[in-house]
Amino acid sequence: MQVTRATFDEVMVPNYNPAAIVPVKGLGSRVWDQEGNEYIDFAGGIAVNVLGHCHPDLVKTLKEQGEKLWHLSNVFTNEPALRLAQKLTHATFADKAYFANSGAEANEAALKLARRFALEHYGEEKNQIIAFNQGFHGRTFFTVTVGGQAAYSDGFGPKPGAVEHVDYNNLDALKEIISDKTCAVIMEPLQGEGGVISPMQEFVEGVRALCTEHNALLIFDEVQSGVGRTGQLYAYMGLNVVPDILTTAKSLGGGFPIGAMLTTTEIAASLKVGTHGSTYGGNPLACAVAEKVLDIVNTPAILQDVLRKEQLFRDGLNKINQKYNVFSEIRGQGLLIGCALNEQYKGKARDFLVASAANNMMCLVAGANVVRFAPSLVIPDEDIAEGLARFERAIEHVVNS
Ligand SMILES: *Cc1c(COP(=O)(O)O)cnc(C)c1O
Repeated sequence: MQVTRATFDEVMVPNYNPAAIVPVKGLGSRVWDQEGNEYIDFAGGIAVNVLGHCHPDLVKTLKEQGEKLWHLSNVFTNEPALRLAQKLTHATFADKAYFANSGAEANEAALKLARRFALEHYGEEKNQIIAFNQGFHGRTFFTVTVGGQAAYSDGFGPKPGAVEHVDYNNLDALKEIISDKTCAVIMEPLQGEGGVISPMQEFVEGVRALCTEHNALLIFDEVQSGVGRTGQLYAYMGLNVVPDILTTAKSLGGGFPIGAMLTTTEIAASLKVGTHGSTYGGNPLACAVAEKVLDIVNTPAILQDVLRKEQLFRDGLNKINQKYNVFSEIRGQGLLIGCALNEQYKGKARDFLVASAANNMMCLVAGANVVRFAPSLVIPDEDIAEGLARFERAIEHVVNS
């Protein structure tokens, strides 16, 4: 039976409003829909398809693992999970890994761990979690409450308590509410959903210092900024600040669902046997693919090339902007790029996305004022050029309509 976009409205819960086309095939940074139309993919499945679509090494790994062992549950451990944990801890500040299936679940684990660590070491009073306005940490009830957009967390009844928000990049605001009752501060070291906002160096250093002063754990949510996205394996490596807990997902699986929480031996000790868990977490299929992603991405050749490709995007976008004057700023780091719309086009990011799709180019928005790109880290230079040419036609359409 033929399924189409109309089928969505018939049989799917209406919490999404997907595009009019239904993609059926992807290869590298190109995607084809049911009608055979071809698209350049600057969206990367929202910073997930880190090596593009159907990367041959990932396909091979998935097939090989698929013929060996799919699933056990955590009643047993497995070789891919153990190897992935070894590689993640060797590559970062962390000593220990916990595996989940998504970014929200990795953050859920991080927040629960922070609460538990504080309870064990300092007592019940130390339970405040501080997060930042416009931050995004996932859609479980705890993580969405910690996220800084009330629109996402309102309307579901009583929220988990002791969660406070202050403005990002405002150290004074944090200084005012942080205290010895704070158990954790959680932040994205590059805000993604909130509009592609970089932290100021003094801000990140100040947050670290305040956390240390008040014995609060610093959690870096690197679900979007991690796995090479910024040109560093993790964004914290470019900020000279080390968190106590780091969460990673999205690009980690290159399209296969996985999330991870990384931390030190001392902090990890608070998640004793039975305190937290997941049926699928550390699934051999997911971990085998993520191990291959990490092997490929965590090399100087790939990471340095991210910065070169970023420059191609910036040069192309600046040139387009000189012609059409639609952006106030091209921002972000590495291959997480935000085109902030100027006054004249405020609130119209979706118009640019729709026009891009009509010109065979996939992009994202980050709020109503920012067009966002999060392409594959190995997108060919020709695809960047062709995608930007299509984006220019989309902009021309918006400007002239
Ligand atoms: C996407 C995202 C999440 C949530 O990840 P899911 O896999 O959708 O649960 C959490 N934090 C950040 C920073 C994200 O960008």
